[in-house]
Amino acid sequence: MALPRKTSKLTAVATAVSLAMAPMSALAQQAKGPPVIRDTEAEQLLREYTRPILRAAGLEKQNIQIVIINESVFNAFVADGRRIFVNYGAMMQSETPNQIIGVMAHETGHLAGGHLSKMREQMAQAQTQMIIAMLLGAGAMVAGSRGGNSNGGLANAGAAVVAGPQEMIRRTLISYVRQQEENADRAGVKFLNATGQSAKGMYETFKRFTNDSLFAARGADPYVQSHPMPAERVAALEEMARSSSYWDKKDDPALQLRHDMVRAKISAFMERQDTVYRRYPSSNDSLPARYARAITTYLHGDLRSALAQIDGLIQLQPNNPYFYELRGQALLEGAKPAEAIAPLRKAVSLSNNAPLIEMLLGQALVATDNKAYTEEAIAILRAAVARESEAPLGYAQLAMAYGRKGDFAQADLASAQAAFLRGDNKTARELASRAKTRFAVGTPGWVKADDIVAAKPLPGQNSN
Ligand SMILES: [Zn+2]
Repeated sequence: MALPRKTSKLTAVATAVSLAMAPMSALAQQAKGPPVIRDTEAEQLLREYTRPILRAAGLEKQNIQIVIINESVFNAFVADGRRIFVNYGAMMQSETPNQIIGVMAHETGHLAGGHLSKMREQMAQAQTQMIIAMLLGAGAMVAGSRGGNSNGGLANAGAAVVAGPQEMIRRTLISYVRQQEENADRAGVKFLNATGQSAKGMYETFKRFTNDSLFAARGADPYVQSHPMPAERVAALEEMARSSSYWDKKDDPALQLRHDMVRAKISAFMERQDTVYRRYPSSNDSLPARYARAITTYLHGDLRSALAQIDGLIQLQPNNPYFYELRGQALLEGAKPAEAIAPLRKAVSLSNNAPLIEMLLGQALVATDNKAYTEEAIAILRAAVARESEAPLGYAQLAMAYGRKGDFAQADLASAQAAFLRGDNKTARELASRAKTRFAVGTPGWVKADDIVAAKPLPGQNSN
């Protein structure tokens, strides 16, 4: 029952069409892990946080995805106009739904303002200017050195030419970004007002990052580097936020609980066990604390105790799909796939057929080695990959199910799709070429295989 394990460069995230992804449980067992975290509960919550904001911004039709990045530092950013990226650290450091919703509102402000394309243009111009500056500088320095040491004037002039335009570029970029930041704040507050929400959380978060704060002094936080936060900006934000009649509006307690549950889950999957117990000691009887302890118990191999704890959670919230998902996942990874099927079926039905949970159910059905489950596994996995086409786990399990059935054409195609999504283009091409020989020319399977054979690798991907 090996879950997919794959290490990729974080930089691949912004450029690659297909993202390497893995369930949280696979991440907890590896040093660094893939760049992106997949979890239905966390993604669903972030989608619910963001949907009204996107609607208020007139972006609801653009099908913007929320992607959780496997990084513990605070960051959230938009890179391509189709996705909002959020580090899991931003969820961990947001104590209330309103705080992270405020960050999403600000990022939506960047999206709605079209800051991405302008930023790119600016960067391209800056790069051109930089090259010109370097050429000029190098030429001037050569001229200076020819004159010998006594002629310091020219050499220094060369250095000044280098420093001049670069300093100019730096200033232009930052002032430009500052203007964008203020616009994104203003848009974000507008979206929050339009949806009857307070901008207090946005203000609280950004105040922590103010340029003269301890946070910024550390200088390592990517959010501060990409979103300059001079005190005047935060002061202006405070004024806007306070003038809203929603300033004092509190988060719904049910939503706060779901927020705390996701933070507990992230802590349990991503942090060291002693840290988890420090955050959620056994004296803490709250639902999030019990959730965190149940997860860390299963991850550290005590299946029997973990199942008892999960059953306790199910008694408290018998309609929570994620408790059944956890039970199924613990059993599946504890080499008891047949026992994992019932809780995973329940999780699929309670979650309205969440595709990532369907993939887990498909995996359990395949792992039983019982041929009676093969057709059902294929049907569930096909439905799952149709709605969640970027998760290699679904295709990898589908390949196994087809292999068991003896359908090697489909098995090769699904394996090729899994390899392609993992960024392993070489394997993907080999498997797709073999799949093409097994399908009749021009059939849908042949066409899909042909697409993979013909696909051009993206920059940063394995090209051979
Ligand atoms: Zn910003």
